[in-house]
Amino acid sequence: MIQGLITKLTGGLYTVKTDEGIVELKPKGVMRHENISPMVGDHVILHEGWISEVLDRKNQLRRPPISNIDQVLLVFSAVEPEFSFKLLDRLLAHAAHAGIDPVIIVTKLDLIKKEQEQELVSTLEYYRSFAPIYLTSLAKPNHEISKMFANKVSVFAGQSGVGKSTLINVLSGTTIETQAISQALGRGKHTTRHSELLPLLGGYVGDTPGFGSLNFDGWNLEDLRESFTDFVALADNCKFRGCYHRAEPGCAVKEHVLASRHDNYLMFMNEIDEMKKW
Ligand code: GDP
Ligand code: ZN
Repeated sequence: MIQGLITKLTGGLYTVKTDEGIVELKPKGVMRHENISPMVGDHVILHEGWISEVLDRKNQLRRPPISNIDQVLLVFSAVEPEFSFKLLDRLLAHAAHAGIDPVIIVTKLDLIKKEQEQELVSTLEYYRSFAPIYLTSLAKPNHEISKMFANKVSVFAGQSGVGKSTLINVLSGTTIETQAISQALGRGKHTTRHSELLPLLGGYVGDTPGFGSLNFDGWNLEDLRESFTDFVALADNCKFRGCYHRAEPGCAVKEHVLASRHDNYLMFMNEIDEMKKW
């Protein structure tokens, strides 16, 4: 029995990396009957030249279509574009909802003014209890970030222009491989639905930024509440069981969490409420 990892899908043909090398295969017909459709990131069993079984997925994204993601690197620039806590809270909620560990990376520290930097860093401190945070810049790259990729499947997320492709080049040196990754992750090249895992620094990265869509389509209020993991940790102290942490009396969450994060939570709740009215 041979086990492998699907790293690519093109034209119905799967590229599978095994201990014995790389093979291109199709899934067994019976899988189609059972409505099992292998995806990039799947660990699969190979049998007589076919993919015969997909092992249980720990998570999966629809856009990009990748499974078994170990971490999502949420990349923000300190400025140009300006750091947005609203976007950070939104991305963190999506990561938690998908069951993927978040890592926060802030780039362009060389461009931010000292006072602004202090304010940004001190607000970010709040997040450190549930997500590792790395600060970096082109001039002074943080090489701790390079160590995070080994034996993991990672995806990047973040607005275009924040420095995702620059970061990859700086951390791993410009080789043909990294050029391909940084080009794929760079601006405006995400028109295809195809996705691929590319080797980087001892692990794999998805060649498309994660969370193509950042609205809360299909979410209910419980989904949102459970996706604010720091809120969940405090919820036992709320006066009412089932507290939604909006304006309920005796809400321990509202009292203890970062105020801007609570504001964003309320805003997302409204978004979900608004969508329900359709
Ligand atoms: P991506 O769209 O997220 O891949 O962003 P890019 O890597 O293409 O970066 C966008 C622009 O920001 C480019 O002009 C980069 O040279 C620049 N940039 C990226 N990182 C830094 C940084 O740390 N400092 C400065 N000053 N510029 C940066
Ligand atoms: Zn509460």
